[in-house]
Amino acid sequence: MAEARTLGESLRHQGVSRRGFLKFCAATASVMALPPSMVPVMAAALEKARRPSLIWLSFQECTGCTESLTRSHAPTLEDLIFDFISLDYHHTLQAASGDAAEAAREKAMHENFGSYLLVVDGSLPNENNGYSTIAGISNLEMLKQTAEGAAAVIAVGTCAAFGGLPHAAPNPTNAVPVSEIITDKPLINVSGCPPIPAVISGVLAHYLIFGQLPELDALNRPLAFYGQSIHDRCYRRSFYDKGLFAETFDDEGAKKGWCLYRLGCKGPMTYNACATIKWNQGLSWPIESGHGCLGCSEPNFWDAGGFYRALSIPTADIAKTAGYAAATGVALGAAAGVMNRRKTSAAAEKHEIVTVDDLEKSS
Ligand code: SF4
Ligand code: SF4
Repeated sequence: MAEARTLGESLRHQGVSRRGFLKFCAATASVMALPPSMVPVMAAALEKARRPSLIWLSFQECTGCTESLTRSHAPTLEDLIFDFISLDYHHTLQAASGDAAEAAREKAMHENFGSYLLVVDGSLPNENNGYSTIAGISNLEMLKQTAEGAAAVIAVGTCAAFGGLPHAAPNPTNAVPVSEIITDKPLINVSGCPPIPAVISGVLAHYLIFGQLPELDALNRPLAFYGQSIHDRCYRRSFYDKGLFAETFDDEGAKKGWCLYRLGCKGPMTYNACATIKWNQGLSWPIESGHGCLGCSEPNFWDAGGFYRALSIPTADIAKTAGYAAATGVALGAAAGVMNRRKTSAAAEKHEIVTVDDLEKSS
């Protein structure tokens, strides 16, 4: 349940030193792309904040989003964040089961009506209410019930944000994202299959510090983490700009670390923080491991043209056209509905651009 103690008091009670607390604030500011001048502001805000109640509901999902969060190393930013919130209901992580678990959800909703955070992973079956139930309650009904008293809803993972795998053709359950059901609450999409743990915790930290959701893009994703495409920040970008592409996964180009564009990399149309925050404690990320980006943080990525099919942008021209490469990702993102306040250059407009819709039609 939400605590009377402030976070500062709670952390001191747990033996977290002032120095450790400030280090945490600095790390959080860095992950959230905030300037160093924000660290004292964050520290002061967190010191006074109270642990909010958080209810986490899982619907049509694979538990990958929870796995992503819990597999982070310890002690971590994420551990600290979970000391900062009162996780009152979570199917996988809670000790309670059966009636006691549902009683905990109802108690948290009742005691914190209007102020608790609701996190959802998984899509909603909109075809048949009996298709997926928890404690005899349909997913749809449980979401509506729990969202009623929530201050804000955080859709974690591409299934909750955009429908994800359950939404892929033929979509037997008529899976829909949270945003199609809950339309009267502040809602943020933290997409990814799964999302990066530090992105989930960074969003929670932002809410705790500022008492509101962060600035969002056109798909309701936090700009701090989804404001740039994978392609914008990819370390293989210099090869792309020079027109040096691997043609197979084991050719000389692949061995030399050339661009994976022709092997189906969807980095130019994908907005996420993998290239900067990385995975596995910042150790590596898919493109660094030799595999193209699949576009997992974008809508319809399962259906959008095949994981190993190259986007059909004229790459030979790209390498010769100054400024085109930088503009390409923006143009693709914009075509997919992800403007992110960027401008498409005249150079990009001269070229044939393939959109997600085009890919879907031709697959
Ligand atoms: S196409 Fe993919 S591998 Fe190549 S630079 Fe862009 S993101 Fe990196
Ligand atoms: S590199 Fe692309 S497919 Fe892989 S996790 Fe990041 S956004 Fe998803």
